[in-house]
Amino acid sequence: MIIGVPKEIKNNENRVALTPAGAKELVKRGHQVYVQHTAGMGSGFSDEEYTAAGAAILPNIEDVYAIAEMIIKVKEPIEPEYKLIKEGQLLFTYFHFASYEPLTKAMVESKSVCLAYETVEKSDRSLPLLVPMSEVAGRMSIQKGANYLEKPLKGRGILLGGVPGVLPAKVLILGGGVVGTQAAWMAAGLGADVTLMDVSLPRMRYLADVMPANVKTMMSNEYNIRNMIKDADLIVGAVLIPGAKAPHLITKDMLKDMKPGTVLVDVAVDQGGCIETCKPTTHENPTYIIDDVVHYCVANMPGAVPYTSTLALTNATLPYAIQLADKGWKKAAQENPELVPGLNVINGDIVYKAVAEAFDMDY
Ligand code: NAD
Repeated sequence: MIIGVPKEIKNNENRVALTPAGAKELVKRGHQVYVQHTAGMGSGFSDEEYTAAGAAILPNIEDVYAIAEMIIKVKEPIEPEYKLIKEGQLLFTYFHFASYEPLTKAMVESKSVCLAYETVEKSDRSLPLLVPMSEVAGRMSIQKGANYLEKPLKGRGILLGGVPGVLPAKVLILGGGVVGTQAAWMAAGLGADVTLMDVSLPRMRYLADVMPANVKTMMSNEYNIRNMIKDADLIVGAVLIPGAKAPHLITKDMLKDMKPGTVLVDVAVDQGGCIETCKPTTHENPTYIIDDVVHYCVANMPGAVPYTSTLALTNATLPYAIQLADKGWKKAAQENPELVPGLNVINGDIVYKAVAEAFDMDY
């Protein structure tokens, strides 16, 4: 198969959908890989590394779309790319269709085949192509939180791990899924006093078994949250209710119960946030302050660490890309049921119910 890897053109997107290692795997299996000039640069991969792996470099994005049977990307195509997409072309990338009608309409009109990373689903209902980004964001939440707790950045001026003779900081993590678990490991590793809250007892039993002694688990409910926020230095929002907006576990009135300089990192901001006062921010302007409480609510945290994020994402996407390249999308989806829910649009038809429902379109 002929595979094209365009350079991402969305603002501040430095990830790339295929590494030189991935290109080598595909070339080894007899596929042709075309990478746009400097597509890997933002993640630290040079054109020469792709060439050495057996890929060919094309000078511009039009050439990549024109030649490829399958386009592998990171972010959804944006407007200038719509006209480049060909009938029958397979697009394997994040789409998040339900959040943007013009994209959905453009892909329907293009008559391409859209396989969305975010809806590829394993039999246990986990989403294998979302997990890596949650892992990155979870780990990063503590790095960011520790940073913003510093006084010059308007935090309390407390070191997460303390020092001998001085108590460590208290970290409260709401949600013990992928983000929360990774955050807990990081905070615990730095020596903080960590409390992890969830509503799932089986999940907390598991976490209590595997976490170090400085991580305690606690049932998530309003009473416990109100008690815990008074002493917390860093609070990480990491809840997810699949298919729904995040519940506001911390409401505006609770801010006055917190210590001045407390830092809130609401990772769930992309689902509306679990802290009422959180509004999406960017890496250029990541924080704001309400009632002396620092809010960090960057909606695409992994974008700040493109090297790690690209490797984490492609570790997860490459096995699927290989199946699609080897067999074509129809046979690959017949043989691997995980790919079936990934199909959102096929040759002008929406085949994913929630996307059709979001815009009252035919399904
Ligand atoms: P997950 O499904 O693995 O975990 C969510 C956890 O929340 C589950 O354990 C669930 O039991 C728990 N939960 C549900 N209701 C709760 C409540 N009331 N109190 C406490 N816990 C509750 O999800 P995840 O992969 O960890 O993702 C968490 C959020 O982070 C999602 O909204 C995701 O989109 C977001 N995210 C954001 C970024 C970013 O850059 N900002 C990056 C990756 C993921």
